[in-house]
Amino acid sequence: MESKRRHIAILGSTGSIGTQALEVLAAHPDVFELEVLTANSNADLLIEQARTFKPNVVVIADESKYQMVSDALADTDVKVYAGKDALNQVVEMEPVDMVLTALVGYAGLAPTLAAIRAGKHIALANKETLVVAGELVTKLAQECGVNIYPVDSEHSAIFQCLVGEFHNPIEKIILTASGGPFRGRKREELASVTRAQALKHPNWVMGAKITIDSASLMNKGLEVIEARWLFNLKNDQIDVVVHPQSIIHSMVQFTDGSIKAQMGLPDMKLPIQFALGYPHRLNSNFERFDFARYPSLTFEQPDMETFRNLQLAFDAMERGGNAPCVLNAANEVAVDAFLNDRIGFLAMSDLNEHCLRTVDFVEHPTYEDYVQSDEETRRIAQEYLN
Ligand code: NAD
Ligand code: MG
Repeated sequence: MESKRRHIAILGSTGSIGTQALEVLAAHPDVFELEVLTANSNADLLIEQARTFKPNVVVIADESKYQMVSDALADTDVKVYAGKDALNQVVEMEPVDMVLTALVGYAGLAPTLAAIRAGKHIALANKETLVVAGELVTKLAQECGVNIYPVDSEHSAIFQCLVGEFHNPIEKIILTASGGPFRGRKREELASVTRAQALKHPNWVMGAKITIDSASLMNKGLEVIEARWLFNLKNDQIDVVVHPQSIIHSMVQFTDGSIKAQMGLPDMKLPIQFALGYPHRLNSNFERFDFARYPSLTFEQPDMETFRNLQLAFDAMERGGNAPCVLNAANEVAVDAFLNDRIGFLAMSDLNEHCLRTVDFVEHPTYEDYVQSDEETRRIAQEYLN
């Protein structure tokens, strides 16, 4: 590793990815220095993290918690800011080299754009940013000489397969999907599944939104669109295969037919560490994979009739323009409604489809068009729910 330590800002440090990223940083104090921590409203954990990791700055997005965080850190050197705009400002701070976007949903878009404009490299967990505005984000990153390192395990797998192959054309990529807790079920059986059942992912422990997305295969749909932009692919170069063991994290097929796969036990700390430490592979004591304990790795076709969200994502990607942005906003409302017992499991894809059909299509959206499409979709989605 170069002698200068890498200065990291973590957006969403109190979440599943954020807390695991802090474990990675704690294990490599010689490599990383923490500059910024941010949270939406979990003030208690943010305060605890600030006292332990002593960043330069913390931001609490929920302004009503500002006084509490500020008082609790009054005896430290940590600077405290609050509000959404503060997120966009802290990523621009001079010492920051890399911003880990570990916040969830559309809220990641504005700070990611601000970080890119300020020339900060991005370790991207917040897939919604690329789903909403992948064309705009990747173009801006190119103009600003900024690299976007994937944190999502599938995209990290593909990136790891591509190291040393960047000059070789990709024939296609194959994203693996666990299939979630409802793999093998049919539509009739999904009508009555509960929030608690949907929140039980077989292989990963994650935030609530992505766990529901994994159960509905929307997560894989979002990842297809994320991959399209990260690796500059054509729509027909992206396949999905269900692999219930989640050991192969994804694959790349090259133009000679050779396929490379990246494997390991499911543990997000590995892709987080690879993104933050790139191009170096840092040591870890993560549990090692034992082939003898997995005598069979299996693969099957995704059932896109039952799990319509995946088909909707392919359709939205094909349509292009603001369609993926609309799908993302509809899905954020749908997941929230499902988590609050307002709608059933299957109604989530109904709502997504309704919004895709109803919101005005914009073929070449500007940033303002994305903001407007997001707002308009949330309005139409709420109307549909009422
Ligand atoms: P989480 O819900 O556990 O954590 C989200 C974090 O973002 C929290 O720190 C929260 O305070 C913050 N946050 C939420 N809404 C915010 C807002 N409006 N403004 C500012 N901050 C906000 O989520 P997670 O599971 O860690 O996922 C984070 C992102 O990483 C998501 O985009 C998800 O798709 C992606 N991801 C997660 C995993 C995983 O294993 N958890 C794997 C791959 C990708
Ligand atoms: Mg993933």
